[in-house]
Amino acid sequence: MALLHSRGLRTTKARVQLLTHLLGTTAHPSAEQITAGLREAGVEVGVATVYQNLNRLVDAGLVRRMSGSDGRSRFDADMSPHDHAVCESCGRIADVDLEPGVRRALDRATAGDRHLETWLLTRTAVEVHGLCPECRAH
Ligand SMILES: [Zn+2]
Ligand SMILES: [Zn+2]
Repeated sequence: MALLHSRGLRTTKARVQLLTHLLGTTAHPSAEQITAGLREAGVEVGVATVYQNLNRLVDAGLVRRMSGSDGRSRFDADMSPHDHAVCESCGRIADVDLEPGVRRALDRATAGDRHLETWLLTRTAVEVHGLCPECRAH
């Protein structure tokens, strides 16, 4: 997989399967959910291996790690600038479209080398919190 190679990571079967799985979902799954998903697809893998590989992918900048409100890490292979809604009840994370003007303003903040005070801004992400549709229904 060229993506792994370009970041200096060895292309192991486990990594390719893991990254392919993550690129194919917008569910922002936890390591446990990823493990279950891979097993469903017939890939026999342990949660420790998944964790290890996730850490490498996060360090290489191919996957982003977020913490859910339940304290569990969630993972996203979509590295484009975008924003998230976090469920306060079950910890689920979903992509959310902010008003276009808000995202544009955030993108401007990281365009070129605009500095905020003495900081150089490299990326922005807004996190809005609330209840997901399922938790709202209960
Ligand atoms: Zn929820
Ligand atoms: Zn996302």
